[in-house]
Amino acid sequence: MPDLDIVKNLLDVKKRIKKVSISCRRNPDDVRLVAVSKKISPEKIKTALDAGVGILGENYIQEAQKKIAGFGNRDVSWHFIGHLQSNKAKLAVDLFDMIHSVDSFHLAESLNREARKNNKNMDILVQANVSGEHSKHGLDPNKILQLLKEISSLSNLSVQGLMTMPPLSDNPENSRPFFALLRKLRDELASSELKYICLKELSMGMSSDFEVAIEEGSTLVRVGTSIFGPRN
Ligand SMILES: *Cc1c(COP(=O)(O)O)cnc(C)c1O
Repeated sequence: MPDLDIVKNLLDVKKRIKKVSISCRRNPDDVRLVAVSKKISPEKIKTALDAGVGILGENYIQEAQKKIAGFGNRDVSWHFIGHLQSNKAKLAVDLFDMIHSVDSFHLAESLNREARKNNKNMDILVQANVSGEHSKHGLDPNKILQLLKEISSLSNLSVQGLMTMPPLSDNPENSRPFFALLRKLRDELASSELKYICLKELSMGMSSDFEVAIEEGSTLVRVGTSIFGPRN
C-alpha cells in the first residue's frame, strides 16, 4: 500500500474514533489508538509514526525486537498484544511499555522477576476469555479475581485493566455482548476488595468492531488493517 494511503487511513480511523466517542458522550481523549504493526514493514511503520501514531502494537517477540531496535530514537510506546510464553518474559519486559495478554500467574511471576531485575514497573492488562471459545487465549472470567489477588503480591507489576478478543465475525454487533461483558467484569472487580488495583483500561476493539467497542467503554482500540491495509 502506498504511504499516502496509510496517512489517509490513519486520519480516517482517528476521525471515526472521535465521532463515535462524541456520539456516546465520551471524551475522545479517553480512547487511545494502538496501531497494530505486526507483519508490517519498518517503512510503513515509519510513515505511521511521522503521521502521529503514538502507540504501536506487536504480536511476535522476535519480529518486534528487530523493529523496536530500528526505532530506538522515536517517541513511541510499544504494546505487546499477542500470546506470550513465559520463556519470552525477559524480552517482553525489555522491549515493551505495556503487555495486554497476561492470563496466568506463572506468566505474571516471570514478568515480575524480569521487571525487578530491570528495576522497572511493568504495566500489564489481564486478558479475559469472555466468549468461552476454546481456541482463544485469555483467562476464564471467574478466575480473574483470584489472579488479581495473586498479582497484587508482585511488586514490579502494575495492573492497568483488562483485555479481550471476541470471536471473529463480519458483523461488529456480534462483538457487542462480549465488550459489554468485559466492562461489567471490570466494574465488578473494581468495586470488589481489590479497590487499590487500578482497572482503568479496557483494551477491546479491532478494525472490524472498534466503534462498537468504544460505545461499550473501550479505552485502547487495537487497529491494524484499517490503518496499514491487509497483511501478507
Ligand atoms: C492483529 C490483531 C489486532 C488488529 O487486527 P485488525 O483486524 O488488523 O485491526 C488487534 N488485536 C490483536 C490481539 C491482534 O492480534
